[in-house]
Amino acid sequence: MEQLKINNNAEDELIEAAFQDVLNGYLASNHRKKVEIITRAYTFAKKAHKGIRRRSGEPYILHPIAVAKIVSKEIGLGSTSICAALLHDVVEDTDYTVEDIEQHFGKKIAQIVAGLTKISGGIFGDKASAQAENFRKLLLTMSEDIRVVLIKMADRLHNMRTLGSLAPNKQYKIAGETLYIYAPLAHRLGLFAIKTELEDLSFKYEHPEAYQQISDKIKESELHRTEIYKTFSSPIKAKLKEMGLKYEAKARMKSVYSIWNKMEKKHVPFEEIYDIYAMRIIFECEDPTLEKVTCWNIYSIITDLYKLHPDRTRDWISVPKANGYQALHLTVMGPDGNWIEVQIRSRRMDEIAEKGFAAHWKYKIGEGDEESELNVWLRTIKDILDNPEPSAIDFLDTLKLNLFSSEIIVFTPKGELLTLPNNSTVLDVAFELHSQLGLHCIAGKVNHKLVPLSHKLKSGDQVEVLTSQTQTPHREWINFLATAKAKSRLRAALRKEQQPFIEQGKEKFRAFIAKHKLNASNELVTKILGMLHLPNREELYLALGRNEISLDDNVVKSITRNGSQSILSKLFRRKPTEKEIPDKKEEIDTKKTYILKHNENGSNFKIADCCCPIPGDDVMGFIDDDNTVVVHALNCPRALALKASYGPRILSTEWDVETRKFLATIHIEGLDRFGILQELIQMISSHLSIDIRRLNIEAQNEVFSCELSVLIEDSQVATDLCNKVKQINGVKQSIRIH
Ligand code: MN
Repeated sequence: MEQLKINNNAEDELIEAAFQDVLNGYLASNHRKKVEIITRAYTFAKKAHKGIRRRSGEPYILHPIAVAKIVSKEIGLGSTSICAALLHDVVEDTDYTVEDIEQHFGKKIAQIVAGLTKISGGIFGDKASAQAENFRKLLLTMSEDIRVVLIKMADRLHNMRTLGSLAPNKQYKIAGETLYIYAPLAHRLGLFAIKTELEDLSFKYEHPEAYQQISDKIKESELHRTEIYKTFSSPIKAKLKEMGLKYEAKARMKSVYSIWNKMEKKHVPFEEIYDIYAMRIIFECEDPTLEKVTCWNIYSIITDLYKLHPDRTRDWISVPKANGYQALHLTVMGPDGNWIEVQIRSRRMDEIAEKGFAAHWKYKIGEGDEESELNVWLRTIKDILDNPEPSAIDFLDTLKLNLFSSEIIVFTPKGELLTLPNNSTVLDVAFELHSQLGLHCIAGKVNHKLVPLSHKLKSGDQVEVLTSQTQTPHREWINFLATAKAKSRLRAALRKEQQPFIEQGKEKFRAFIAKHKLNASNELVTKILGMLHLPNREELYLALGRNEISLDDNVVKSITRNGSQSILSKLFRRKPTEKEIPDKKEEIDTKKTYILKHNENGSNFKIADCCCPIPGDDVMGFIDDDNTVVVHALNCPRALALKASYGPRILSTEWDVETRKFLATIHIEGLDRFGILQELIQMISSHLSIDIRRLNIEAQNEVFSCELSVLIEDSQVATDLCNKVKQINGVKQSIRIH
């Protein structure tokens, strides 16, 4: 009893200190000092969560306090948001209602807490599209009060920081969701620091080994990097001093996640990533009208000292990004012959870059343009919400398009300015202006020259849209549209037009099934879709209705004969033994790690066709409609979507040590010389005793490229093989591809 009391006292002190920390941070900020209401919110929340603990064992109240701290310190919000953060789980987890909150803290705080409660429900629900539905609610609430989403962001960040204490399958789910939805959203809101941390944390849970490896390499190379940075920055610093500027200069590291992303995208090792850090110069500037000219003065100092890369200057000052980001970027040749990026910003621009548009409130300059940019974006979101896609995943993808893309700016003939995602076309502009313009668009004029609908635009283009009343929307258009708005408007129009054909097709399909006495199971439909290369049922019905395809006896033959299959699916075809059949409908426990087994009798899993992982890869399982575990690589885009939408069907998996050989494909490139291929093949097959399944070689002039499929035990063998192949004289690249 005595012991318990002491513990309680120590815990109380800990809680008190954590809250004091939030308060001190708030008092040091530029906000009005409304300490009384914050303290009241804290006392209220503490009482409400009394006796409750988080999974990690710590008192629950520490979570809302931590969220309040992020809201105040990292996002820069004021007392209303701090109170709402402290109270954010009260309505959800205790007996108090929104009315109680309103009575004690007023309407505004109650509204925000209500918004947060609305979007927290069902996050781990059992409904397949719960997450998408939830996200839709989040965005709707957001357009009412942006603070709701900012606090939600802080909540998610703290949950990610403490993710280690959750069960592994929940970790994947939350990490996947974070990467898929919250990180892009943070980016779009301009919360750059939070976005980076969310990505890094998700990455750490999804690919623990890769994360560790890259972190180690960053540490190892630190000394060398510091030295180069010193040599590079000291002449710049000397000149800045001469200029009499008050400034701060630092080397900004790329995040672990973005390094990995680049390695994967460009197929290069860590050592070949040259822009691993950038020099950032942040200068103090009392007079906002002098910011721009100061940036360009610094630019001129640097380009006097170092050679400028001609295509990599980015002026985000004259035209800020839609999320409010402003800075001047340039790339110059460093002392070791590698390019180095330099980012120049004023203190104000830096705060906006780190804390997002919330920082604008701190620097109120008239009716900020940036705020109206954000409003434009919120309107777009509302637009999509008004016309949602029938499928939840499509909906998420459409939205993500808008969250991720970087932007270009084009002009209408009247001089109106449009901000569009990269790769936007003339048709995107047409839809952006009006859906009727989009649906009847026949061509465009870019800088007064006639161009097709699919013409990709560049920043600064002047675009005129040409229409004709006889024009009708085409399905193929979807392939070159870049904006979410245009895609969703086109899809809606097509659906309307296609509906009668789809109905006809459905009827034909029914007749076909009846005629051949088939069972219209999911499996059968999937087989037919695969055979005809169609993505979904709807497309099948449409093609049938339009008489573009027909279902004849040949189709029946090939579906009953078990048609075409990849080598992989043949290897892993489920061959249930007699013993296995009785418990085929065995319940899979999603709370436990599922062991992936494979032996003579078959496997207890299926390899996903989209990413084809092999043992040793970071993977996860997804329970499909037939209760079969399908294994996806963790970084597979399809897996990302599944994680965000079908939480309860996600499994954490582990490869069984006994698992047999798998097929891996390796891409090799090099300079052709006499005998090199023979050397290559000999090395692989005899020296390493590896089983070659397929070899595809193409030679053009002095260069050859080769795709090699081999059967191996695990991914380490593939890595070793790549390294061995690289040692052959003339080979320039050797990597495993997915
Ligand atoms: Mn929470």
